[in-house]
Amino acid sequence: MLAKGEWRLEEFVGFCSGCGKPIHCLHGFLNGIVSEEKEMLYCFQCYEKKEAGQER
Ligand SMILES: [Zn+2]
Repeated sequence: MLAKGEWRLEEFVGFCSGCGKPIHCLHGFLNGIVSEEKEMLYCFQCYEKKEAGQER
């Protein structure tokens, strides 16, 4: 019998809304950020840019 949602070490979550880079969940750790406001995905780079002063 399989446990529900067999645990994967790497799971594709979606694409970064900034640069289009694929975001994965690694060992339960997301290698990106989910912006709760709009349910958007960002990689760390794009998220930092976004946080660090939203150029324009
Ligand atoms: Zn990005």
